[in-house]
Amino acid sequence: MTDVEELVADEGRLEWDTPLFRTALAQFEQAIPYADVNESIAERLRYPERSVMVAVPVRRDEGHVEVFPAYRVQHSSVLGPTKGGIRYDPHVSLGECAALAVWMTWKCSLLRLPYGGAKGGVRCDPRALSPAELQRLTRRYTSELMGVIGPQEDIPAPDMATNEQTMAWIMDTYSMQVGYAVPEIVTGKPVALGGSLFRHEATGAGVVMVIERACQRLGWNFPGQRCVVQGFGNVGGIAAQELASKDAAVLGVSDISGGIYSEAGLDLGAVRAWVAAHGTLEDYPDVQHVTNSELLELPCDILVLAALEGQVTGENAPRIDAQLVVEGANGPTTIEGDAILAERSILVLPDVLTNAGGVTVSYFEWVQDLGRLFWTRDEIRARLAEKLADAFDRVWALSEEKGISLRQAALVAGINEVAGALKARGIYP
Ligand code: NAD
Repeated sequence: MTDVEELVADEGRLEWDTPLFRTALAQFEQAIPYADVNESIAERLRYPERSVMVAVPVRRDEGHVEVFPAYRVQHSSVLGPTKGGIRYDPHVSLGECAALAVWMTWKCSLLRLPYGGAKGGVRCDPRALSPAELQRLTRRYTSELMGVIGPQEDIPAPDMATNEQTMAWIMDTYSMQVGYAVPEIVTGKPVALGGSLFRHEATGAGVVMVIERACQRLGWNFPGQRCVVQGFGNVGGIAAQELASKDAAVLGVSDISGGIYSEAGLDLGAVRAWVAAHGTLEDYPDVQHVTNSELLELPCDILVLAALEGQVTGENAPRIDAQLVVEGANGPTTIEGDAILAERSILVLPDVLTNAGGVTVSYFEWVQDLGRLFWTRDEIRARLAEKLADAFDRVWALSEEKGISLRQAALVAGINEVAGALKARGIYP
């Protein structure tokens, strides 16, 4: 057994035991000695409160029926409804959803949003499904979850391979079942249905707000920083665009097909236009093409991980050639990778802080829907910048005060908020 396995091995948690859930628990154990939490509360926080597994039958366009396993995990409801994305991906599992739900709890409490964490997903290959099949899948998955989601219970949002349209289908299915329009059941929906301005850009823009704040603290000049971004979807695509718009040099980007690199910097407008036309970065002209693993090792100042989990590992961390690693995705650095980056004095901006822009504007969307009163884009952007700066400053100060990593500090800040609420409420009945 490795140290990590020993740290989290417990037969009581076998149901959720996957590499990602171990990572989430190991991070929790690394933070707990610095948090203000007694052991009985810590033990409650090691378990998700509720885990739901459903089978989703979908009639394929050719006529036959296929069944997809699907999940929804709610980690903590002590501070309010649970909140978290829904992903469609071939690797979705109960343990993956549980890990992502745990991180959502720390993210929400770190940002002082009145939510706990949740995550859900359907194990499928979304690229192999037609829009009509995706709609049937989404509507049946929503129907299966009717008893556990709700505007005061659990509020879904987009994640990998789900988007505004997916949220619109969920909102419609839920609303048809209860008999009236319930926009506040999901966030990240189209503005026409009560979605928020700036939600689409919020995670990527928030990533860059956090990078800018870190550069200020480190005494770095933000313009001119050489950046590489893995992932060119909602988070990575927007983050790359924001970096370029603020005069950082984006040298490399990637999607599932691989990466593109230019030492002179990429023309992001042209790259976006290519992806809009071709759906992929593959065959983009006049640049160097690299694999995703080569992209991670390109020399740069700032490496933004905005694709998926488990990208920087014990194997490749010794070769990462960046000064700052930025977690736009959830869980992109393994425990072993994290330890090696720390040894090499490469600073990591942790996911629960760095990609919290999405859930923060989701919270703004929910508040606007509940109040039926909508805010301007500038107001939303300014409120987001304020929330992220406040969280960043608290994390930085805690990290200096206790001599711990930014990740440990972010988790300690989040855990303390949840633990305080659990202590005050006690155990029912
Ligand atoms: P997305 O589906 O819009 O984009 C994902 C990107 O990663 C795409 O460019 C895809 O081609 C690429 N990708 C997929 N598999 C890959 C692989 N095996 N290797 C390399 N690249 C691959 O998803 P997103 O919403 O941008 O989410 C990305 C990450 O950010 C996820 O970890 C998600 O949980 C996290 N996140 C998203 C949000 C949000 O608001 N969308 C908020 C917080 C965190």
